[in-house]
Amino acid sequence: PTPPTTAPSVASAYDEDHPAFVQVHDKSVHELVQEIVAARLQEDEDESAFFAADLSAIYQSVLEWRASPIGERVEIFYATKCNPSPAVLHLLSLLGTSFDCASASEINAVLSLPSAPSPDRIIFANPCKPASFIKNAAQKGVQMMTFDNADELYKIKRLYPTAKLVLRILTDDSKSLCRLGLKFGAPLATCPGLLALAKQLDLSVIGVSFHVGSGCKDPMQFADAVWRARKVFDMGKQAGYDFDLLDIGGGFESETFQEMTQVLSDSFDLYFPEDSGIRIIAEPGRFMVSSAFTLATSIIASRRAQQAIEGVAQPVEEEEEKAEGSSDVMYYINEGVYGSFNCIMFDHQIVHPHPLTIGGALTTTAPPFPPLPNVAVEVDLPVQMGYKETEKASVWGPTCDSIDCVRQLVDMPKGMDVGDWVGWGEMGAYTLCAASTFNGFDRSPVHWTTGGASKPEARFVKALLDEFASSSLR
Ligand code: PLP
Repeated sequence: PTPPTTAPSVASAYDEDHPAFVQVHDKSVHELVQEIVAARLQEDEDESAFFAADLSAIYQSVLEWRASPIGERVEIFYATKCNPSPAVLHLLSLLGTSFDCASASEINAVLSLPSAPSPDRIIFANPCKPASFIKNAAQKGVQMMTFDNADELYKIKRLYPTAKLVLRILTDDSKSLCRLGLKFGAPLATCPGLLALAKQLDLSVIGVSFHVGSGCKDPMQFADAVWRARKVFDMGKQAGYDFDLLDIGGGFESETFQEMTQVLSDSFDLYFPEDSGIRIIAEPGRFMVSSAFTLATSIIASRRAQQAIEGVAQPVEEEEEKAEGSSDVMYYINEGVYGSFNCIMFDHQIVHPHPLTIGGALTTTAPPFPPLPNVAVEVDLPVQMGYKETEKASVWGPTCDSIDCVRQLVDMPKGMDVGDWVGWGEMGAYTLCAASTFNGFDRSPVHWTTGGASKPEARFVKALLDEFASSSLR
C-alpha cells in the first residue's frame, strides 16, 4: 500500500474538554497499524511503539457476554484495574455496564467520565481499603463494598456505617494463572463469626462475592465457588441477614468462556434459581478488553552469533555448534517487561509476535483475529500465518536489564532487520495500566479506531460516540 499523504481521517471525536477526549479512526486495527507504520517508515525518524485499540472489539465482548448462557441474568461490573483508559471506561459506560473499582482514584475516574454512571453502578471491590478511600466512597455515594476480615468491619462502622457490604469468600483458585486467594477471601470457617460481628455492629451485609483467580483454567472452580457461596448465604440467614446479591468476580477468558458460562448457568439453576430473586453481578476484566489492543513495536537493534560484517575480514574460527534451544538472532525492540510487557512478569502471560514489515516492506497478512491463544501457550504465530522461511529469534526489551526478555525463542520470518516492525495481539489486559517508564522509556500511546466501516459493530460504536458527542444531555 502507498503511504498516506494526509493525517489519518478522524471519524469521530468527543468531549474535547475531558481527558477522555480521543480521536477515533474508522478502520480495522490492521489498516490503522499499517497506515501508521507506513507513515513512520517514510519519515524514518519516529520508530516509537504504539497501541492500536479497536473499540468495536470491546462492544463485541459485551455482546458475547450478553448472548452467553448467563448473559441475561448476570450484570457486568467491569474490573477497571484491567484497563482504565478513559475511552474504554466511557464506551463501557455508554453500553450500560457497571464498574468494579479498587481504589479512590478508580472510583473518581469512573465518576468523572463524560458518561459518568450513577454511584450505584460501582462496587468498591477491595476487601482491605485505606480509611481515606472509604471516606471518599462515602462522599461519592458509592455504597457497595467488599470485606473479608473483622478489622475492615470496625473501620467501615466508624467511617461509613450505611455502606452495603459484600462478604468476599475464599474459593479454590489452584488452576488459575493469578491466584488471588493467597491474599483475599474469608475461609468458610470464619464466615459465621464475621457475619455475627457485622450484625452486632448493626452493619448491612447484602451478599457474597468471590474471585476464582485471574486466568481461570478450570470451569469447575466456578461450580465449586457458587456452591460455597450458597453455604455462606445460608450462614447469613443464621446470622439474621437476608442476602440478595451474589458477585461472581472475574477470571473469564475468551478461549473457555462458553464452557465457564455454561457451568455457571447450571450452578445458578441448582443453588440460585431465577425465582430466588437473587441479583447476580460479575467483575470481568481480561475478557472485556484483551483482544481489543494490538501493540506495534520496532526493532531498534539486533545481534547474531556469527555475523558477517560487510567489508571487514573476519578471523576464521571453527563454527561453534549452536546449542539446542538457542536463537539465531536476538532482536531488541522498544517495549519491554518494564513497560507494557509487564504482563509477562505480573500476569504470567506469553506474548505472540507477528511481522508488520519484513526488510522495510509492509506485510499484507493480518494475524488471526480472534482468537489468539492469549495465555500460557507458546505458539509461533508467524508459522501459523504461513511464513515458511523462518529462523529462531529471541526478543528483548529496550532497558539495560537482562530480565527484560519478551520472548525467549520464537520462529520469526527470515529477512527481518533493524527498523522492521513487529506486532503483538491480545495486549489490552493488565498491560499499559501497569507499565513503568524505567530507564527513561515512555509508555506507548494509544490510537483508537471503531474497527472499520464494514463491521456492523463498528458502525454502532461510531453512532454511539457521535450521538453522545452531540447530545445536550451529557
Ligand atoms: N475483581 C477483582 C476483585 C479482581 O481482583 C480482579 C483481578 O485481579 C478482577 C475482578 C478481574 O479479573 P479478570 O481480569 O481475570 O476478569
